[in-house]
Amino acid sequence: MSEPKKTPGELLAEQLCLKPENAGILMTEDELKQAFDFCEGYKTFLDKAKTEREAVEYTEKLLQQKGFQPFDPKKTYQPGDKIYLNNRGKALIFAAIGKRPLSEGVRIVASHIDSPRMDLKQRPLYEEAQLAMLKTHYYGGVRKYQWVTIPLALHGVIVKKDGTTVKVSIGESEDDPIFCINDLLPHLSKEQNKRPLHEGIKGEELNVLVGSLPFKDDKASEKVKLRILQILFEKYGIVEADFLSAELTLVPAFKARDLGFDRSMIGAYGHDDRVCAYTSIMACLEHLQPEYTWVNILADKEETGSDGNTGLNSRFLEHFIQDLAGTQGLEGRHVLEKSQCLSADVNAAFDPTFPDVHEKKNACYLNYGAVMSKYTGAGGKGGTNDASAEFVGRIRRIFDEAGVIWQTAELGKVDAGGGGTVAKFISRLGADVVDIGVPVLSMHAPFEVVAKTDVYQAYKAFGAFVSHKG
Ligand code: MN
Ligand code: MN
Repeated sequence: MSEPKKTPGELLAEQLCLKPENAGILMTEDELKQAFDFCEGYKTFLDKAKTEREAVEYTEKLLQQKGFQPFDPKKTYQPGDKIYLNNRGKALIFAAIGKRPLSEGVRIVASHIDSPRMDLKQRPLYEEAQLAMLKTHYYGGVRKYQWVTIPLALHGVIVKKDGTTVKVSIGESEDDPIFCINDLLPHLSKEQNKRPLHEGIKGEELNVLVGSLPFKDDKASEKVKLRILQILFEKYGIVEADFLSAELTLVPAFKARDLGFDRSMIGAYGHDDRVCAYTSIMACLEHLQPEYTWVNILADKEETGSDGNTGLNSRFLEHFIQDLAGTQGLEGRHVLEKSQCLSADVNAAFDPTFPDVHEKKNACYLNYGAVMSKYTGAGGKGGTNDASAEFVGRIRRIFDEAGVIWQTAELGKVDAGGGGTVAKFISRLGADVVDIGVPVLSMHAPFEVVAKTDVYQAYKAFGAFVSHKG
């Protein structure tokens, strides 16, 4: 039986109209299986690297296994040489030297490895009503009400008076204790219910429950707090003053899990932006003899605005490129002006339950592939790197040639809100930059959702970019 003939209108529409298609339709069964398999490694990364420090440690080990060496600006490098720079254990740059001279520019992929969370205050521990509690100061853009009554794990470092550092990770193994922030019961929340949602839980109500049994001594005061300090001293050799020089943070204690009857999605803490970190790391490590030098950056501090010396609003990337340029007798700015960058970050996926915040024609959708955002910002494109049509055209050709499934999107409706990425901090240096990432549901919630096909297409997109020979 022959196919029914297409009408002239159908044929013309096929030729002229942009028709996005679901990756579930476009990808073969084999490719879908590859995507699902790829995501097993991603889930491990999510579980092992919940903070920027842990992501750096995890990646540095991987780099060392692949023969990467700490970058030495005094050395000269040959094509195929592999280098990395660890910025204070919280940000990482790694690169593979290309066959072409640096004067022809480098290919940069920049993602961030910090995620919204609950940081401890400097003097966190207190006792109230015979319960031991920790005060927190939230990190990044969080909807505070989402962080109560969920299991939390404590991660971070404590620098003791003698200068030694203690690493902390409690709540990740099945037999570890966990922690939580409490909320009111419905029976007594009549007044709290009248608060607007953004004040449903207030900043100073994000207090973490960490103990309840008193130390057996009639004379000491604050016996529950004392008993917690005793446990901390026995386990870590720390005293209360050591909290002053600590970076401790509470993150969701649960692991990344397949989501949906069809297991097509992953629910986890910290997809933003570890989904771009992992996919770009994996993509780069497959192209260790590149035509053009590629540079992969895992940045810290994006969620608080990229300030601080491990964020991309500092000059550590610029200095790295300057030093790298120096190895070939060049100026950093001449390399940067010729360089191209994918700012690798997530975008907000269309959510059918909350359609009002999106403009459907320019939203990104789960399973429609890697998402390109030409611009971000707020209001009249305030605070945006707006990638040039020429650069977008170039990336479009690279993706299409490599068979990458991709879509474009804005972050929500015009004037609905807005947001930014590290793109503007890299375009400031003179490179061409555009945002590429993965659509995420419930972004910045303790439990975010991505689709496996999109994760895989982002990986393909980064690979096509860093290995492109033109
Ligand atoms: Mn992000
Ligand atoms: Mn974010």
